[in-house]
Amino acid sequence: MRLSRYFLPVLKENPSEAQIVSHRYMLRAGMIKQSAAGIYSWLPLGFKVLKKIETIVHEEQMRAGHIPMLMPTLQSADLWKESGRYDDYGQEMLRISDRHGRDMLYGPTNEELITDIFRSHVGSYKDLPLTLYHIQWKFRDEIRPRFGVMRGREFYMKDGYNFDLTKEDALHAYNRHLVSYLRSYERMGLQAIPMRADGGPIGGDYTHEFLVLAETGESEVFYDSAVTDLTFGDRAIDYDSVEQCQGVLEEFTSKYARTDETHDEALFNEVPEERRRVARGIEVGQIFYFGTKYSEALGANVQGPDGKQSPVHMGSHGIGVSRLLGAIIEASHDDKGIIWPEGVTPFHCGIVNLKQGDAEADAACESLYEALTAAGLEPLYDDRKERAGGKFATMDLIGLPWRITVGPRGLKNGVVELTSRRSGESEELSPEAAVQKIVEIYANHQTGRGF
Ligand code: ATP
Ligand code: MG
Repeated sequence: MRLSRYFLPVLKENPSEAQIVSHRYMLRAGMIKQSAAGIYSWLPLGFKVLKKIETIVHEEQMRAGHIPMLMPTLQSADLWKESGRYDDYGQEMLRISDRHGRDMLYGPTNEELITDIFRSHVGSYKDLPLTLYHIQWKFRDEIRPRFGVMRGREFYMKDGYNFDLTKEDALHAYNRHLVSYLRSYERMGLQAIPMRADGGPIGGDYTHEFLVLAETGESEVFYDSAVTDLTFGDRAIDYDSVEQCQGVLEEFTSKYARTDETHDEALFNEVPEERRRVARGIEVGQIFYFGTKYSEALGANVQGPDGKQSPVHMGSHGIGVSRLLGAIIEASHDDKGIIWPEGVTPFHCGIVNLKQGDAEADAACESLYEALTAAGLEPLYDDRKERAGGKFATMDLIGLPWRITVGPRGLKNGVVELTSRRSGESEELSPEAAVQKIVEIYANHQTGRGF
């Protein structure tokens, strides 16, 4: 993309309404524009990152054997009346009536809808196990929408639902989700720690929230610092293997890590004192086994091998796709702007032309642009007639992890400058070597092509 032809409405001033850094940078970098409290338009740069995150979530869900689909945002209230949640859900649910006076709602989640689909089409254990998911906009009329996309009213969420004959099978689905979530967050350059959370009115031990440590997080968390040493990495996993998935769950959840809802001071005190941490975190996902709560309410039964009918065992599993942009920025920025991890960066590399209009500099930038594009990467070429300082400030603000700077002086010596946004370090290389290096860097990151 050439910046002169793109739509990147950066702001020079700090927007006064933004209290935290991610919100501030998303507005300043022209990624989002508020339309109403907690509701945003996604401008091209923000949309690009949103789609990259979504792509990673899709790829990892499909890798785990979960099946993508799409359910609507607007739902009829009938199913919610059947499950009893129409009255229970409270004011967070946006209730609407259509022209015929029928009760409708903007879905805050989809347990009822998916259970209805299941009961309409599946009746036998032979069709199990089954995990369906979608990535769709949700609406929750949050009392205090704030922090930009972090606590929106309209937000983008992946929600998946598993259907299994037995509790054991459903717990395997739970473990599969844990593994696929660990992989997803790591591909986004994030450490999200599974922490034991509150099962709510259903109770039980089977729910974990995934938290990104950040001072601005809304949750208070207590953990053994040894959990921050754990990484999933690129190890192979067989999602059909009960033992392997259970092993990962045990590895990642046996150390103390809890949100304030389930915090147990006595247990926490058993952690060696120098490893006890009290901090704040951003919830970027949650997995949940809830048994037969919805299948009993909605009559979603399956016939077992013995011919007997029983309610199907279910769980639901969510990732806050739009919140993740905020969480990634909170975890990765400096005082000049965002620092995107390679896995989600909107463009792979910036090209800054120090002397736009200089025939040699222009030609060198064009050929870098072509070489990177031919290698399957997306460069952002700042081809505007602007001062170098302004171009650098924009690149730093929007946070592309790599930048190639091209100027007449370097070109005389046959070199351009390659700069890492994260370390700030630069090296002089021939244009070919700079392209080669960027290609190698991204060969180690599975990034989707943006929109
Ligand atoms: P919270 O405790 O933050 O209100 P939740 O536990 O109610 O979230 P879930 O129902 O578990 O949310 O939804 C799954 C994921 O969707 C959450 O882990 C979070 O990342 C994201 N999410 C929930 N509410 C919002 C919101 N208002 N804005 C943006 N993302 C959200
Ligand atoms: Mg939650």
